[in-house]
Amino acid sequence: MEFSFGIPTKIYFGKDCIAKNAGVLAAVGSKAMIVTGKHSAKASGALDDVTAVLEAKKKEYVIFDEIENNPSVETVAKAADIARAEKIDFVIGIGGGSPIDASKAIAVLAANADMAVTDLFKNAFTKALPIVGVPTTAGTGSEATPYSVLLRKDMQTKVSFGTKDTYPVYAFVDAKYTYSLGKGSTISTAVDAFTHAFEGYLANRSTVISDSFATTAIKAFGKSMRKLARFELDEADRENLMLVSLLGGIIISQTGVTIAHGMGYCYTYFKGIPHGAANGLIMREYMKLNYDVAKDKIDNALSLLGCESIDEFADILAEMLGQPPKLTEEEIELYTKLTQIQKGSMANTPHKIDAEVIKGLWSSIS
Ligand code: NAP
Ligand code: FE
Repeated sequence: MEFSFGIPTKIYFGKDCIAKNAGVLAAVGSKAMIVTGKHSAKASGALDDVTAVLEAKKKEYVIFDEIENNPSVETVAKAADIARAEKIDFVIGIGGGSPIDASKAIAVLAANADMAVTDLFKNAFTKALPIVGVPTTAGTGSEATPYSVLLRKDMQTKVSFGTKDTYPVYAFVDAKYTYSLGKGSTISTAVDAFTHAFEGYLANRSTVISDSFATTAIKAFGKSMRKLARFELDEADRENLMLVSLLGGIIISQTGVTIAHGMGYCYTYFKGIPHGAANGLIMREYMKLNYDVAKDKIDNALSLLGCESIDEFADILAEMLGQPPKLTEEEIELYTKLTQIQKGSMANTPHKIDAEVIKGLWSSIS
């Protein structure tokens, strides 16, 4: 047994955790940039909770609310210019994974004045402004990971970066912010959280510690999964899914993701399928591919989910997400080529992954 484990993020989980820990949030800096999308930070109530604390504690802030779903390098570069001009000294990302991921990129760019945005992906920087994550989706767990996933139009895909400096210093995780999420987004984001736990469980980089988080998260997902499919979630389910999301983030911060995530980016880039749904549509064939090399873990996960077979579980996902889109021969070729950019995900998958296996997966999914 050999492992290391640790995340530098201090997590506050529970109802009204921002108001209850106002002093902690306010002590991070003296002028914040609050990074959000267009509507959800306000609609969820999270923005008001954060600004109430900053105003009560006499801290200055500016709001950048232009983060799109699947944030682009161009948008984070624009926000970083403003951050430098405004001389902010910490960044608060409020939203789903998109604003929280964007806040990490902005925190690095703002602290490294001459850095080109594409240099982020070299992971060569050594400083970033302190980051605070406030999730409003129960999905990415970005509040507890160092990762920032950005859209690169020049590469026709999404690329991630992250180092020890891009972990949020604090995560304020309050499931009440997810009450305003509609059915489609709730399902897609929850499936993302599940895939983090499940892919992290199978990952070559998994450890005995990440496995114990993963089995807890998979079991918790199983508890709310059927109610999620019917979209009959009560507050306890929302909290349960938020826990799955947070644990999923902690897990992948240690283990990384695998080829299901590496493939999902193609669905998102070319078909506009939301991130979590994209991963979920790949699960059936992904599980079947890995069954020969990860039988014990997959059987254990199915039992924790209360399912007797891969198909029983994948049928529940299909009830939530529908069927994967049919791909043309040309699309399969292109997706196979682009999936191979995701070298880390390939190497981290228990079944050996090469171009032929990826093509086989894309062909069997569509
Ligand atoms: P998202 O892209 O952040 O948000 C999706 C949509 O949901 C947006 O329209 C957003 O509105 C809305 N929304 C968010 N919270 C809401 C709420 N409480 N009520 C109503 N609407 C709400 O979705 P996400 O799935 O959380 O994040 C996906 C991104 O995270 C992808 O770019 C993915 O690659 C990345 N990701 C990162 C990690 C990581 O470790 N860092 C892991 C997995 C995925 P607004 O636009 O108004 O905000
Ligand atoms: Fe994900």
